[in-house]
Amino acid sequence: MQWLVLSLFLLVLLALITRVRAPLMNWSIGIAIALFILPAVGWIGSGLAIALWVLFLLIMVPLHVEDLRINWLTTPLFKHMKKSLPPMSETERSAMEAGNVWWDAELFQGDPDWKELLDTPKSELTDEEEAFLNGPVEELCGMLDDWDITHKRNDLPPEVWRYIKANKFFGMIIPKAYGGLEFSAYAHSQVIQKISSRSTTAAVTVMVPNSLGPAELLLSYGTDAQKDLYLPRLATGEEVPCFALTGPEAGSDAGAIPDRGIVCKGEFNGKKVLGFRTSWEKRYITLGPVATTLGLAFHAYDPDHLLGDHDDLGITCALVPTDTKGVKIGRRHNPLDSAFQNGPNSGKNVFIPMEWIIGGQEQVGSGWRMLVERLAVGRGISLPSLSCGGAKLCSYTTGTYARIRKQFHLPIGKFEGVEEAMARIGGLTYMMDASRTLTLAALDQGEKPSVLTAIVKYYLTEGMRQAVNDAMDVHGGRGICLGPSNYLGRAYQTIPVGITVEGANILTRTLIIFGQGAMRCHPFVMAEMEALNSEDEDEGIRVFDGLLMNHLAYVTANAARSFVYAITLGRFASSPVTGEVANYYRQLARFSAAFATMADISLLVLGGALKRKEKLSGRFADALGYMYLCSATLKRFEDDDRPASDLPMVHWSCQFALYQVQEALFGIVRNYPVKLIGWKLLALGFPLGRRLHLPSDRLGHQISTMLMEDSEARSRLINGIYLPDDPDDITGRLGHAFELTLKADEVEKRLRSSGHVYEPSEDYNSWLRRLQEESLISREEKTLMEESYKTVYSVVMVDDFPAGKRAVK
Ligand SMILES: Cc1cc2nc3c(=O)[nH]c(=O)nc-3n(C[C@H](O)[C@H](O)[C@H](O)COP(=O)(O)OP(=O)(O)OC[C@H]3O[C@@H](n4cnc5c(N)ncnc54)[C@H](O)[C@@H]3O)c2cc1C
Repeated sequence: MQWLVLSLFLLVLLALITRVRAPLMNWSIGIAIALFILPAVGWIGSGLAIALWVLFLLIMVPLHVEDLRINWLTTPLFKHMKKSLPPMSETERSAMEAGNVWWDAELFQGDPDWKELLDTPKSELTDEEEAFLNGPVEELCGMLDDWDITHKRNDLPPEVWRYIKANKFFGMIIPKAYGGLEFSAYAHSQVIQKISSRSTTAAVTVMVPNSLGPAELLLSYGTDAQKDLYLPRLATGEEVPCFALTGPEAGSDAGAIPDRGIVCKGEFNGKKVLGFRTSWEKRYITLGPVATTLGLAFHAYDPDHLLGDHDDLGITCALVPTDTKGVKIGRRHNPLDSAFQNGPNSGKNVFIPMEWIIGGQEQVGSGWRMLVERLAVGRGISLPSLSCGGAKLCSYTTGTYARIRKQFHLPIGKFEGVEEAMARIGGLTYMMDASRTLTLAALDQGEKPSVLTAIVKYYLTEGMRQAVNDAMDVHGGRGICLGPSNYLGRAYQTIPVGITVEGANILTRTLIIFGQGAMRCHPFVMAEMEALNSEDEDEGIRVFDGLLMNHLAYVTANAARSFVYAITLGRFASSPVTGEVANYYRQLARFSAAFATMADISLLVLGGALKRKEKLSGRFADALGYMYLCSATLKRFEDDDRPASDLPMVHWSCQFALYQVQEALFGIVRNYPVKLIGWKLLALGFPLGRRLHLPSDRLGHQISTMLMEDSEARSRLINGIYLPDDPDDITGRLGHAFELTLKADEVEKRLRSSGHVYEPSEDYNSWLRRLQEESLISREEKTLMEESYKTVYSVVMVDDFPAGKRAVK
């Protein structure tokens, strides 16, 4: 009996800890009172009560008696952690400190406040932005012939360049005061998304000047004179910018660029001025070959101490006109046959006057901070928008093609094998778009959530890779044979570009997301590290001690929550909504608590070594990333006023994401370097094992059926891409074939029910003539079926070329 009471007591205590955030002292008083009451009313025997008191005092006295605690716990821990703390370079510190935290911190800390998520206003377009999307963007898309661009010209046509510049596509982020369009992050993203559904070459060309580059850097750090000089010319394309950071020796490790600038005096506009004698070698620079303004990152040194006492000044950013003496520019790379301008450039002993340094002399050495701060925002827009454009195009074209292409007398989309691929395309597209729009909403509220932008960069480019691969499989040879009528092949070819740029994906997953998340999202780690690095050790220990007590209460609450939610399969967690999606909120709360516990224990047990355990931190990234994708899906469903026809995609996305979270967390405990800790984490996070599964076949069937129908849910899913209705355009013709197929199917269905099925042994047109003669179809129906057959045939056909070395049409 007394063990039953004790178990119940512990369960109630755990349950209370999960719900009530209170300091450790309050908990201690509460437990002490209970330890008086339980034996007094005879619910537990005196022997057990004494044992519990001993245990309680052994734990709580050292924790609450300050001198004891500092000597026995805080100081040894402080010294151990100080020793195991990996040295952090200035470069790493800047990267860690870039941006701020938002919803990521809620998920990271184990007790997400759903109100914060659901109250975040959804981004909307202004009338002006809407008009731009329906006007110039639509017109630009109509001008883009991707085969002509990628295969024949290897460039955008001159009239497209002119149109882009004249309509200020390069000035979307530039304020109106400087002649730009001053669009919101959401509008900017919608523009990139639409163009990317037509041509990745054009999308990248428009993307780069609006992303990390001269305009972005000038707006945040430039002097007034630099802004006045450059921004109006960048907005109208009079200046074409690029930004050169990467070189042969410094790719992912960009902070290690060997390009040098030595402070010296030089001749500029007929005067002797201070500046840098600079040499560099860069590669992979987008728009580099046609740029007029080269944003340049170099490492500045001052050996003669012309600027101060330091020799090494750090990374510095400058704007260099490309016609400056000593600059070599113009050659091109071939990034997987995409035709956007990309190439190497170099400079030998180029004199860069101080007034070309972004922000002037006072910003010398701040280049790395500038770059990581701006990247923290920019990577949440460019590639996620391009990825969603690609995934939506896949959803549209694959659903449509799978409906019109028949094999074995059936649309191929009706085969279960094809359904599986289509379900992934539709489900991923929904989840990716939800994550894109939620991140943009945060950016439009002025947040700079560096961890979330890294998450959307990684998971959306990977989502696009999956969607395009699946789309290629469903299209078969239709996707493989390149030519003017192939709308998928180039997207497939160029996927690795998105995977590699703005932080290569392997590094982003295994080093950045959790590494940065642990520092930024954790409520105590940054402050504890500051205390550990304190020059005055006694003061450091005092501050560390205060943080430690709060940290202990935080870990205890998360561990209790993790266990209680896991053992009750999330039922004890609360949900801000009712109905069939409520359980997803509960599961997220459960995993958030498990994640927070595992992250904390790992930081404590592995300390600095965690930085090298990339397989573990990659799994932490997956858990955090998919929790974000799942919460974005739920938020989108609420923002869209819960359309019932979206439910299959909502269920699919949430189930898929939660399964990935489960597998990532389980992978952590299974592969934990300290086995004993791994088992404890297993007991806390998975006392009943792994209970979640991938989405069911039934859900997959519903999604793939939806993709093959002209439905509201499908229109909502692909909203924002370019869909021409010109039957001479291959995408337009595909849509036309789809409409005709749906209409002709009604007639075919009727014929089939009366036993009239077309057999290839007979000519199709003769068969139709015969049916009309036998009054089985009307003249209009015959015309409809002929037209449908002809149009589908023309869509199914691929390009061929005269024999020769290269395919040209
Ligand atoms: C088409 C294109 C356009 C580009 N545009 C520009 C531009 O305009 N301006 C500019 O400055 N740069 C640009 N880049 C450069 C781009 O940012 C780099 O390619 C990228 O940073 C990766 O560098 P890298 O290619 O040298 O690969 P590497 O750094 O050699 O990396 C190779 C692989 O190793 C992984 N890796 C490296 N270090 C780690 C680690 N610590 N942990 C885990 N994995 C790791 C990477 O994730 C990657 O998978 C462009 C590149 C391309 C291909």
